Amino acid sequence: MTNSRQEAIRAITAMPPVAPNVDYTQKHVIEVFGENVFTLEAMREKLPSEAFRALQRTLSHGESLDVSHADAIAVAMKDWAISRGATHFTHWFQPMTGSTAEKHDAFLTYGADGRALTEFSGKLLIKGEPDASSFPSGGIRATFEARGYTAWDPTSPVFLVESTNGTTLCIPTAFCSYGGEALDEKTPLLRSLQALDKQAVRLLRVMGNKEASHVTGTVGPEQEYFLVDANFYWQRPDLINAGRTLFGARPPKGQEMEDHYFGSIRPRVLAFMMEAEYELYRLGIPIKTRHNEVAPAQFEIAPVFERSNVAIDHNLLVMETLRGVANRHGFVCLLHEKPFAGINGSGKHNNWSLMDDQGNNLLEPGHTPEENAQFLVVLTAVIRAVNKHGALLRAAIASAGNDHRLGANEAPPAILSVYLGEQLTTVVQGLIAGTKPNARGARVLDIGVTTLPSLPRDASDRNRTSPFAFTGNKFEFRAVGSSMSIARPNTFLNTIVADSLDWMATAIEAAQKKGASLHDAVQRVVQESLAENQRILFAGDNYSSEWHVEAERRGLPNLKNTPDAVDVILAPESRELFTKYGVYTAQELESRHTVMLETYVKTLNIESLLAARIAKDQILPAALRYQRDVAESIVQTREASPKANVQGAVTTLDDLAEQVTKFRQAVDALDRVRHEADALHGDVRSQSRHYRDKVLPVMAQVREVGDVLELIVDDALWPLPKYREMLFIY
Ligand code: ADP
Ligand code: MG
Repeated sequence: MTNSRQEAIRAITAMPPVAPNVDYTQKHVIEVFGENVFTLEAMREKLPSEAFRALQRTLSHGESLDVSHADAIAVAMKDWAISRGATHFTHWFQPMTGSTAEKHDAFLTYGADGRALTEFSGKLLIKGEPDASSFPSGGIRATFEARGYTAWDPTSPVFLVESTNGTTLCIPTAFCSYGGEALDEKTPLLRSLQALDKQAVRLLRVMGNKEASHVTGTVGPEQEYFLVDANFYWQRPDLINAGRTLFGARPPKGQEMEDHYFGSIRPRVLAFMMEAEYELYRLGIPIKTRHNEVAPAQFEIAPVFERSNVAIDHNLLVMETLRGVANRHGFVCLLHEKPFAGINGSGKHNNWSLMDDQGNNLLEPGHTPEENAQFLVVLTAVIRAVNKHGALLRAAIASAGNDHRLGANEAPPAILSVYLGEQLTTVVQGLIAGTKPNARGARVLDIGVTTLPSLPRDASDRNRTSPFAFTGNKFEFRAVGSSMSIARPNTFLNTIVADSLDWMATAIEAAQKKGASLHDAVQRVVQESLAENQRILFAGDNYSSEWHVEAERRGLPNLKNTPDAVDVILAPESRELFTKYGVYTAQELESRHTVMLETYVKTLNIESLLAARIAKDQILPAALRYQRDVAESIVQTREASPKANVQGAVTTLDDLAEQVTKFRQAVDALDRVRHEADALHGDVRSQSRHYRDKVLPVMAQVREVGDVLELIVDDALWPLPKYREMLFIY
């Protein structure tokens, strides 16, 4: 007799070796790169020159686009899309669900004579009106005023999504309510980029930089994920409905041998990766890196960094493409932060920097003293921002899934701190100590005079435990969850840095007004600001319990879970910050807070319901069946041989009976606390606390006993694919 798990293993091991579905030579990659994007070059070729120039002004100076030009652009877009097989277009937007949304419309219309025609106008390009009543709004919009608008974001190029069932032209858009409130992630992001641009340029001017006229954020997200074979996946209701396993005994072998990280990639996985990369290249997404990650069956994909608005759209497409291509290879791609207990979860390292319109990275230490002065001022602004508003960064990445990493037993911790690397730490310490000239009359570290040592960028100088680390010429925000959109973490980051750039510019100007030279003003502001904000700097092991104690002594917040973390968004300082820079209105902020809490509650409601159901209709029946088998075997053995020693079987039966009783009690307790949560309906705040404090601990108890049962019950009767199978057989 074989059970369905054994059938799955047989199916997987009988698979013929796979070759990539695509012709993947370097030449080919270069030929297809961006072929599904209506790039600026394509537009230069296809658009009337006046329309193209108008678009360029919009892109580089944020000028609004005249409708007549929009019409010309729409026609060129439609012709390009239709020539590549598109039948429909969609405004592609990012509601507060963490993923993307689309509603397709055909290019089809009919003329006066009743004949079918294709149509696409500037009006349709610029503005859409999806019925948006079913997207989360956090109270911004009641269902009776359900109208939502989408508005074209010309700074992110349009692209084609191809499937075997048709091709669609996707137009990146912002999404707002009838009253103009942002209902999405893109609108606040674009506003934060404007704030960053304005404040960064202001500071550069104060510093005497006359070349740069715009500054933008740059982002390179490293995406981690797991692959499991579809044969296993479809037998795990928890993976299907919650994206993570709610049961599963620790496998005998986990990640302790460290044999998976950077190990050779299995051919079947490589075939999947190559096809995913190929699809992404066609969308103009510059994928650069792929490797095995730390946990078994865990992997990473990373692009070359891009301007942040585009990088964020691209990361959403990366996640979607990974999922889609995995299915074509008999895999399921798990993007959840913690699909498997007891082994590493998945994150998304958000590499972040600032770039001016001359292509200079503002976090690149320079070759001249002036460049270094600018670098140190920007660096100081980032340090100040994270010290003042680290809790907001923590809030931006709060989710039920990410709670299993941050604040749980895994890195990075929920405490935000900044790691600078050994050499830069020495530089910063020198600056802090350097107010008073030393014996020879020289300052310990004189900005604008000293040339910085070139900073090492290799892995040896890295602190992998830091949630926010300087890695040579950028910061790496490592606490972001793998499944989330990186729009909000970047929006928050851009805003808090804009605020600090603003503060630095004002402080330098104030010192100058009091008669200080630019050089002295910069020196003083950097020195004072670093001294004031140095508690955020930490170079030690962020996982250690000593750091938790030390961080508390320093007064750094340690917001361990989502309900605690998201409240930061409602703090008066947060409201003041975001409204000051026009990134969120007070109402928009409240809506984000509400949606985050609601999502947390909904997630835990689904998970707890699932755990109770799997316990009752899969695990308990298997345990009872095995109990009956053992009991029968004892009775039959005794009948056949009255003197036989059945003590071993009796002990098993006793163990089993004890665990079944415990299990039943835990499941009943879970039902009770779940019902208590239901009774709090309408009070999302109390519900979130109830799930955190009452439901999650009981779920953990249910799981603990369930996992003990897995170790007792006959393997042939066990209904759920086991960790030792899912993580190793593929
Ligand atoms: P690693 O940190 O793994 O050694 P890299 O330093 O090459 O790898 O970069 C990791 C990610 O950081 C890549 O996506 C890369 O494009 C991105 N990155 C590099 N420079 C910047 C920058 N100036 N701004 C944003 N991201 C960057
Ligand atoms: Mg990595």
